[in-house]
Amino acid sequence: MPEYRSIAFLGLGHMGTPMAANLVKAGHRVAGFDVVPAARDAARAAGIPVSGSPREAVAGADVVLTMFPSGEHVLAAYQGIDGEPGLLAAAAPGTVFLDCSTINVAEAREAAALTGAAGHTFVDAPVSGGVVGAGAGTLTFMVGAPAAGFADILPLLEVMGKRVVHCGDHGAGQAAKICNNLILGVSMIAVSEAFVLGEELGLSHQALFDVASAASGQCWALTTNCPVPGPVPGSPANRDYLPGFAGSLMAKDLNLAVNALRSTGVAGRLGPLAAEIYDTFTAEGGASRDFSAIITDIRARSEQERGAAPAHHDGSPE
Ligand code: NAD
Repeated sequence: MPEYRSIAFLGLGHMGTPMAANLVKAGHRVAGFDVVPAARDAARAAGIPVSGSPREAVAGADVVLTMFPSGEHVLAAYQGIDGEPGLLAAAAPGTVFLDCSTINVAEAREAAALTGAAGHTFVDAPVSGGVVGAGAGTLTFMVGAPAAGFADILPLLEVMGKRVVHCGDHGAGQAAKICNNLILGVSMIAVSEAFVLGEELGLSHQALFDVASAASGQCWALTTNCPVPGPVPGSPANRDYLPGFAGSLMAKDLNLAVNALRSTGVAGRLGPLAAEIYDTFTAEGGASRDFSAIITDIRARSEQERGAAPAHHDGSPE
């Protein structure tokens, strides 16, 4: 007999809504909330009971799950802003605070300390697998918590994911996530550069996909989130790069990775370059496009550079 839990689910965005819907389908009691009214409406339409306020959602919950954009959002919601009491004060003693957002390792540890001081427990459990994985209940969870906290929350995570890895104590889940997304950001840029180069060399998208997806270029950025329309029907490229995983979130994650590289003294070079590329992409209109739209940026820059290239003596471009 499964143990049904009462979950306040805060942050009903691209990821939160399908994750919360899976908890509802599995029979758990869910009280959702988002600060954006349109997100609340979309969540209701997806069958998620939505509360009138965060306090109302948290009343009676034994798990408070947050799926927010960043660590600042998490810490502000826990502690409260503008004199308003936060979630830590609103929750019953002994509540599990389960944060699935991608945030800094230090912020996760701060959240754990604040939570403990308020008489609750904390688990950091960021995810990988994107919106498709959230909908299908096939996310990978990277968990930072003491062993007892991990065992307690495991059945709930197994509803939303197919793989749950206990990475260590508080903050270890975020450490794993930041390392993973360093790989993802760099690999999406590499896959996109390869497609643009293939275009110029006369290769069809399908031919390059068929080769690389079965060869050593194989990676998630290619086979699940393919940046060109066609080869992977579910990828955001087929719907004008509607996220998915927004460019602003990739820029955020890469900057978390850069901070971690700096603070640990690791001499990474591609991470900082990828962060710079996504910062520019975000500043120039890519913030709310899927991060795979970086390919459109590479094409545009190629055009610009060709236009700026000095001509040969015979008049042909350099
Ligand atoms: P999103 O912006 O679509 O959703 C976040 C939601 O949180 C928004 O609807 C926002 O209104 C809400 N919110 C912010 N502050 C709130 C508060 N105090 N109370 C209630 N609601 C609040 O973002 P997303 O794509 O769902 O991503 C969420 C997190 O998951 C991010 O940290 C992201 O890095 C991570 N992530 C995203 C993906 C992806 O593919 N989108 C994949 C893995 C991890």
